[in-house]
This record gives sequence, C-alpha cells and structure tokens, in this order.
Amino acid sequence: MIDYASLYAQMEQTPLANWLEQLPEQIAAALHDERHGRLPQWREILKNLPNIKPSKLNLHDGVIVGQPDDLTAEQFAQMESQLRLLHPWRKGPFDLFGLHIDTEWCSDWKWDRLKDGIAPLDGRLVLDVGCGNGYHCWRMAGAGAKLVIGLDPFLLYVAQYQAIRHFVGNNVPAHVLPLGVEQLPNQLAAFDTVFSMGVLYHRRSPMDHLITLREALRPGGELVLETLIIEGEAGQVLVPEGRYAQMRNVWFIPTVPTLLGWLRKCGFVQEKVLDVTPTTVEEQRSTKWMTFNSLPDFLDKEDSNRTVEGYPAPVRAIVVAKRPYSSFALKFRIDRTRNTQYAIFANG
Ligand code: SAH
Repeated sequence: MIDYASLYAQMEQTPLANWLEQLPEQIAAALHDERHGRLPQWREILKNLPNIKPSKLNLHDGVIVGQPDDLTAEQFAQMESQLRLLHPWRKGPFDLFGLHIDTEWCSDWKWDRLKDGIAPLDGRLVLDVGCGNGYHCWRMAGAGAKLVIGLDPFLLYVAQYQAIRHFVGNNVPAHVLPLGVEQLPNQLAAFDTVFSMGVLYHRRSPMDHLITLREALRPGGELVLETLIIEGEAGQVLVPEGRYAQMRNVWFIPTVPTLLGWLRKCGFVQEKVLDVTPTTVEEQRSTKWMTFNSLPDFLDKEDSNRTVEGYPAPVRAIVVAKRPYSSFALKFRIDRTRNTQYAIFANG
C-alpha cells in the first residue's frame, strides 16, 4: 500500500539505521490484509486517485498542495469522491488543488500554539507518536526537519496519509508508519525532537509512556507533549471511572503541576509550559468530512464547562522538556525528588 524505500534510504544515514533490521517486517505485518477487513478497499481507493503533479507545495502555512489549474474537472471530481471514501477525516485541514478538506479538528491551531516555543526543527530527526493521518508531520517537514517519522496503528489514518502523499510526492521527508509506540525499539536515543500529542491520557501507564519517549530521544533532545489537563494543584489527577467526553479509553488527566512532576520523575529536565487552552466547539466539531458526533455533543447542553459525564470540559496543555545530557543530571533530579518526598513525609 505504501512504498517506504525513500525512508529506508534516508534512515541508513542516521542513528536510526539499526532499526532497519526489523522495520520492513514490522510494516509488512501491520499492512497484511488480515490486520483489517477494509485494507483491500483502501488500497483500491489509493489506486484510483488521479495522477497529478502539483505546480506548488506549501507546508509552511498549512498543507497546501497544487492549485485548481493543475487538474481537469473530471480529475477533481475523481479525487474528491475517492477521498470521501476515507471518511472520517479527523485531523487537518488539507488543501488539495483547491479542494478544502475541512476536518473535525483545526489541527493547525495546535501547531500555531507550539511552533514558536519549541526548539527549531531545522535539520532535526523528529518522531511524532500517535500522529493520526500525519497532519503535523507535514508541518514539521515544512518547518525544515530533516526526517519526520510518525507512528499510528490505526490503518485508516495511515491510508489518509498515503492519499495526501500521493499528491505531495516522495521527496518530502515525512513518513507515517502503521505502528504503535510499543513497536519502537528500546533505547533508540536517536531523535532530536519527539512529539506526543493527544496520546498520554489514552495510556494506562503514563509514566511508562514518558520513559519510552525519553529513551527515544538523544541526550539533549526535546520532548513536546500535549495532553488533557484539569485545573488544580500538584498531586491532583482525574481518573474518570467511565467515559470522559464520551471517550472510552481515558485514564489519567493531571493538573499542570502534576504533569510537570511526572516529567521530572521520569528523568526529564528543563520542563516548561508553552500553552494551556480550553478546547472549543470551534476547534473540534462535525464537518462534511467528519459527520459523526463531535465536541458539541460531548459537552453538557446546560453548562458547556462540563462534559456530558459531569467532568470539567476539556482543557489541553502543551509542555516541552529535555532529556538530560548526562546520567548525573538525571540522578541529581531523582535525589531532589526523594528529598521532596522526605519533606512531605516530615510535614505529614
Ligand atoms: N497527534 C495528533 C493525533 C492525536 S489522536 C494530534 O495531536 O492531533 C491520538 C492518536 O493516537 C490516534 O490517531 C490513535 O490512533 C493513536 N494511537 C492509539 N494507540 C496508539 C499507540 N499504541 N501508539 C501510537 N499511537 C496510538
């Protein structure tokens, strides 16, 4: 379904070369027809996309590929009808030859909140864990990253990524792999920047997730973490018993001070909050390209500060933190945490 040859060639020249011993097999297994009943249909859709060379490409201001003059009316109609078959489109928007794919999320808003606060991506090796259809991966490449690897095990999103890549072409170094974060080799210590956005609250063990992300980073590398938070103080965390905003698999929603404490405990340093923003019904809503229920249906009709379950409505934080250069820095941090704990015991 997807040709990763250009990725493999590029990886040879990086600290990721060792991963190549397993990666082609991991990908082949993930894209095996038995993995998902709709894979043959998605392959067919991708085959039916018209072949057009875009006259321009702008990944800096959005994901903007080609212009209306690049294709005929029939080709445009063919492109639109095939892309619609890949419903639901959650992350975007995309502009393909003047076709505006208005996705459930305005993912560009999230990008705008973080782009000036992170270490510049120019020339960097980047990992985006839980990247969805790869919207932000394209933006990372547009910001100058040398190589972007996105991971998402949900194969419809990988098919959407490939549909976009069909038009973008193989020269942009942004690759979405059909893999979960569990399939990342241990202790890679290779990426200059690792993104985990919208994933932490889905993890049953958030600490293990943070440690996995740290180990994927090279010493001195930067984590960019975006997750749901609640208002409150250090030590507080919401563990919804049932659903949260209709989402089934939500485990831990910390306060910002709790989240920063988790980062320190998991060996990160220089943790810093870039942004805290409530998610609005303008940012997440149903559209023609995502016709299922969305945030307006997940909030209390009488009180939009509450979810339908009565929890605080979604607020998201973006934080950055670094993997320390030496284990000395890490040990120092752990010792400090211990001292803090002693102090708490002493007081309590
Ligand atoms: N990072 C994007 C998408 C967040 S949605 C953004 O911020 O807009 C969370 C994504 O995590 C989904 O696309 C889901 O398929 C993916 N996901 C679920 N389990 C995962 C796993 N084990 N490893 C990596 N990604 C996972």
